[in-house]
Amino acid sequence: MSGTFVGMPSFPRAAKEAVHNKTLRDNLRHATHTIRDKRAKAVAELADWAELREAGKQIKDHTLRHLDRYLVQLESRVTEAGGTVHWAADADEANRIVADLVKATGESEVVKVKSMATQEIGLNEALEAEGIAAYETDLAELIVQLGDDRPSHILVPAIHRNRGEIRDIFREKMADWGRAAPHGLSDTPADLAEAARLHLREKFLRAKVGISGANFMVAETGTLVVFESEGNGRMCLTLPETLISVVGIEKVVPTWRDLEVFLQTLPRSSTAERMNPYTSTWTGTADGDGPRTFHLVLLDNGRTDTLADEVGRQALRCIRCSACLNVCPVYERAGGHAYGSVYPGPIGAILSPQLRGTQSEIDASLPYASSLCGACYEVCPVAIDIPEVLVHLRERVADQGGKGHRVEKAAMKAAGWVLDHPGVLGAGERVASRTRKLHPSKLPGAGAWTRSRELPEMPAEPFRDWWKKNRKPKSDGKKP
Ligand code: SF4
Repeated sequence: MSGTFVGMPSFPRAAKEAVHNKTLRDNLRHATHTIRDKRAKAVAELADWAELREAGKQIKDHTLRHLDRYLVQLESRVTEAGGTVHWAADADEANRIVADLVKATGESEVVKVKSMATQEIGLNEALEAEGIAAYETDLAELIVQLGDDRPSHILVPAIHRNRGEIRDIFREKMADWGRAAPHGLSDTPADLAEAARLHLREKFLRAKVGISGANFMVAETGTLVVFESEGNGRMCLTLPETLISVVGIEKVVPTWRDLEVFLQTLPRSSTAERMNPYTSTWTGTADGDGPRTFHLVLLDNGRTDTLADEVGRQALRCIRCSACLNVCPVYERAGGHAYGSVYPGPIGAILSPQLRGTQSEIDASLPYASSLCGACYEVCPVAIDIPEVLVHLRERVADQGGKGHRVEKAAMKAAGWVLDHPGVLGAGERVASRTRKLHPSKLPGAGAWTRSRELPEMPAEPFRDWWKKNRKPKSDGKKP
């Protein structure tokens, strides 16, 4: 397994491989069903869930509509509080800014809080190329990093691993990255957590630079917010001398009051908790408390293009709770790696093709990685209509005319002409009925469709002929 998504095959090919991996399917089914059941109970506890969902949607929509204003306000407040704001148009620029900032400190290693934005831009790999080691400190991210693996879930990046596999990774790989796993490590959760704690403590105490993302940025005060469950994030955010936060521009909210909504909806949607165990907030720098230097890198990387699309822009409301992944029948079977992106599942199927464009094979295939059952929309705490965006993106992919789509378009055009000419249609039906024993079970050129679907059986007699024979005009000459 390689730690990069570059050169991924399209979704159908990657998914086909994944569905034949029984261990992966079992791990995924167990994990997603457990989380989804717990989430349903946590959500049912709130009588005003529908109102909270609508409020979250409206706060996000309002902010996105006035994003320019709120980002400028955020920049001023962060600067006033002693931080430095950098603007990055794409992944390369963001990586260059971060690498230069780390090098300026004279350090060659950093500790990291779990962050989708830094995964999206491939920051760890970019830092490695500059001779800087980036250590993931979230337990699941640590498992992924030690295993030279890729994350497969937004919230639980190592969801595809069971306890035995994690114990083996710790035993084999921990020593290469620092403190080795304790001798005779078992696969009980407590032992695994203790091994990770000992391994990471060394790194927290040594690191001079911390790198994070943020769940939200409050424009009115220039405050960044991280929600997390393990406390590793708080160690990264407070112990190092320099803190660098890389955050997508859509993460801004206007006021502290807006957080009230997400403090309720995000934990319940993601980990099924009433409130998340650690909520860390930081505003610039403060004497004698936390990092001496703070840099905020505001990341675009396709977000303003997404914002320009009236239907697709709702994907920017996403608060990365991962509820949509846990209910998706496609994700449950295919797993996160098949999506070829750090954003898997239903949200990945609409976000990645918008952030990266639909030109590559994998991105063109993602809008089709869905049964359009709508379960993702039902659970989304900010009411993103994922099926609507999927259909919208399918249109875009079809318009750009890949090989398959050209054949499909020609077939549709021919079918339209035949349906417009009843005589030809009737003659065709008669020929089809008479030759039905010779019909192949798979349509040439449509193997992907017919491989898992039966072709309908052709009747011995076309319906029109049957109708003529059996529905004689009434005695008054009228048709029945
Ligand atoms: S799309 Fe909705 S349900 Fe899915 S991760 Fe984003 S906020 Fe959560």
